Amino acid sequence: MYKMSAKPMITAAKIQDRVQEIATEINRTFDFDIILSTLTGAFMFTTDLVRFMANAKHRITFIKATSYGSGTESSGVLKVSGIDDIDIKGKRILLVDDILDTGKTMSTLTHMLKEAGAVDIRTCVLMNKEARRTVDFHADYVGFEIENQFVVGYGLDYDQDYRTLPDIWTLEET
Ligand code: 5GP
Ligand code: MG
Repeated sequence: MYKMSAKPMITAAKIQDRVQEIATEINRTFDFDIILSTLTGAFMFTTDLVRFMANAKHRITFIKATSYGSGTESSGVLKVSGIDDIDIKGKRILLVDDILDTGKTMSTLTHMLKEAGAVDIRTCVLMNKEARRTVDFHADYVGFEIENQFVVGYGLDYDQDYRTLPDIWTLEET
């Protein structure tokens, strides 16, 4: 069994400040065509990010990438759907995910986008757990560096719960 930490690890206010900073940094450093966001975990981060970027020419599209079963450990097998419907050839893409853990999801997706003819790909994650990395992968834009803890809220789930919370919490085993 798991329970939520007594206090948020990152409050909604802190998240908003940092997302605004990242949006500004991306606007300043990367001119791109399409935002490709991974459902379901990155949905809240992505909507806040685009609001702060406020660029009418950015297109947005969503794919589903699932590696977790119902536990707190990745199953290691990545299921990707929706990527074939997107016109990727010749495009500059901002790939957005909620959290970088082993790195398998982002490195696999980046590889798939290159294969599909993307000309420039940069990656943006809200959180990075550097200690958990098993493949050599670094995101271009990172919101928060975090410890090796399982986090929920602000889009992230545990067995589909907690996603709609505005703050980020850690889950502790009871
Ligand atoms: P990776 O492929 O880098 O191992 O894992 C990335 C995916 O695993 C993320 O997109 C996210 O869906 C899930 N994940 C990794 N760490 C956490 C965590 O602490 N909490 C939640 N809810 N999901 C996580
Ligand atoms: Mg994910």
